[in-house]
Amino acid sequence: MQRFRIAVLRGDGIGPEIVGETLRVLKKVEDLFGVSFEFEEGLIGGVAIDKTGDPLPEETLELCKRSDAILLGAVGGPKWDDLPTDRKPEKGLLRIRKDLDLYANLRPAKVWDPLIDASPLKPEVVRGTDMIVVRELTGDLYYGEPRGVFEENGKRVGVNTMMYTEDEIRRVVRKAFEIAKKRRKKLTSVDKANVLEVSGLWREIVEEESKNYPEVEVEHLYVDNCAMQMVRRPSSFDVIVTGNMFGDILSDEAGVIVGSLGMLPSASMGDRYALYEPVHGSAPDIAGKGIANPIATILSASMMLRFSFGLAEASDLIEKAVERTLEEGWRTPDIRSEGCKEVGTKEITDRIIENMERLRHEKV
Ligand code: NAD
Repeated sequence: MQRFRIAVLRGDGIGPEIVGETLRVLKKVEDLFGVSFEFEEGLIGGVAIDKTGDPLPEETLELCKRSDAILLGAVGGPKWDDLPTDRKPEKGLLRIRKDLDLYANLRPAKVWDPLIDASPLKPEVVRGTDMIVVRELTGDLYYGEPRGVFEENGKRVGVNTMMYTEDEIRRVVRKAFEIAKKRRKKLTSVDKANVLEVSGLWREIVEEESKNYPEVEVEHLYVDNCAMQMVRRPSSFDVIVTGNMFGDILSDEAGVIVGSLGMLPSASMGDRYALYEPVHGSAPDIAGKGIANPIATILSASMMLRFSFGLAEASDLIEKAVERTLEEGWRTPDIRSEGCKEVGTKEITDRIIENMERLRHEKV
């Protein structure tokens, strides 16, 4: 039997609720596919500050390092807002990404037909959209040196440095090619090569790597053009790969195109470790009410099955069960629509689990 160790970091706010429901979905995967998951819980964020004084205790980091993958809820909340920046819950997240060298951030943006009206775009434009933005996460303007505000001739000057080494570009580009290879085999590389030397290097490396992936069609777009095309023809994109700064903006744009925050999963991957978490935060305004939408976290776990464990069939099953549940009209309050059947966190998960069972048997 295949066994996988999962580090479970529930975090704050709605984190414990949505992660709890996601573990039930994973237990159903164990039943249906004869695999075994070992869940081990660790502290992160505000709850870790309260218990240990540190948003990412050493113990949690060690737990992550001995696990096959990490499932995270969300961190943060008003209780910790007044702490100094380097002791805030969110610092725990930044540190885990850095300490585990999670250099590729994957943000899928898929339009679910039953939720098509949640998109700000016309249904005929957005229908069929199913893309992944692969954003480099550990380099670029956010980390380049020199940086700071300096004084020159009695005036302040703000400086950040856009910088990428060849190796940093190559590893994230390879990851994107690997993903594209398993999807619709189209890769859009986004840069600003008409103005920036860093982007020139980026483009050269994409071209070099494309020789190793002849089955993948490559398109290069300037970032300003890409931002426009994502709104004009979102369904034409498959995998988009880009640097940290451009990816920060484009991944949010992709998210808003498909609609609801409660539906957006993500993964942050390196060569050894991978962390899966919803895009949204800890939603303190609805924490403890039993109404949070668990689907973004469930879909993050589905990504874990696909990308970290190679369980593509189980991952597909979860996605189909989510779709079927939405088609049947079940909704949490954040995605409610006219005539829907409104339910809470646990009930919508019950429906998803029932649909997993049903769809699995339909298939056999
Ligand atoms: P948020 O994403 O937590 O919430 C924004 C709005 O969306 C809220 O009205 C919330 O109720 C709603 N929402 C979010 N997820 C939902 C879900 N699954 N189901 C139903 N409704 C949902 O963003 P925010 O309010 O700006 O931040 C709250 C806290 O979360 C802050 O402390 C912030 O720093 C933190 N945060 C954490 C992460 C993370 O852990 N990755 C990301 C963003 C924000």
